[in-house]
Amino acid sequence: MPGVEKRTEEWKPLRELPITWVTLSELKPHERLNNEELKGFIESLTSSGIFWLPLLISKNEKIIIDGHHRWKGLLELGAEKAPAVMVDYADPEIELGIWFPLLSKDKTTFLEALQKASITTKIVKDRNEAINEVHSGKASFAIVGKENEEAVLVYNKPEACDMLVKIEGESIVYIDTESAALAEVDNEEAKFAIIRKPLSKDSVRRTCSKGEVFPAKSTRHILPFTFQKIDVKINEIIPNFSNKEK
Ligand code: ADP
Repeated sequence: MPGVEKRTEEWKPLRELPITWVTLSELKPHERLNNEELKGFIESLTSSGIFWLPLLISKNEKIIIDGHHRWKGLLELGAEKAPAVMVDYADPEIELGIWFPLLSKDKTTFLEALQKASITTKIVKDRNEAINEVHSGKASFAIVGKENEEAVLVYNKPEACDMLVKIEGESIVYIDTESAALAEVDNEEAKFAIIRKPLSKDSVRRTCSKGEVFPAKSTRHILPFTFQKIDVKINEIIPNFSNKEK
């Protein structure tokens, strides 16, 4: 599994929502895919023969809110349509958060990698200063440790974050809120947290409409509810699936 998600979210009520069969080629991804996760989904689907989690799609823009690997995996297996839950992306009930990667290796490992890639960094005296610089939109991201420790800022290179994530490795932990990320550092569960710029729904719309994508594991869409699981046989999605496998 490429990274571990750690959530601090509370329990959410279950909503039964209508299932719509969407045309996969019309959907717009907004995040880069991870090959391991793609392989994992294909393996899970083909071995169980059941598709149990509908895609989550924005009704008007056809943006994939959740389900990038399901979408790509189904396309690769030859599917044309798939079951989805449709929501109105403009609905304020749907919020957009981000994931905060946690780092446990030594700071020099990350700093050396940034230096080697000719990425300019700026060291500031504490993490609050660094976080303000990211929140104000000036810096792309910050690598922060405990409150009074020096922090590292990276400007104009949001994709450099991917490099650090890769260095941290497969077992990297992503946590769902900034305060939880800082608490992990304070409790010494991690050495550093990467604090990234918050994203807006408009930036997701703009990125999609240009045919571009964000790095993997950037966005975290937050719904105030969960929705039902389904039980759709693979042959209902890919009619000639078993023939193909033989
Ligand atoms: P992303 O999180 O990038 O949008 P996905 O949500 O599609 O991508 O990631 C793969 C998801 O597929 C996992 O959340 C996993 O729960 C789900 N999954 C695994 N096996 C199946 C299956 N047989 N049917 C439906 N969903 C599955």
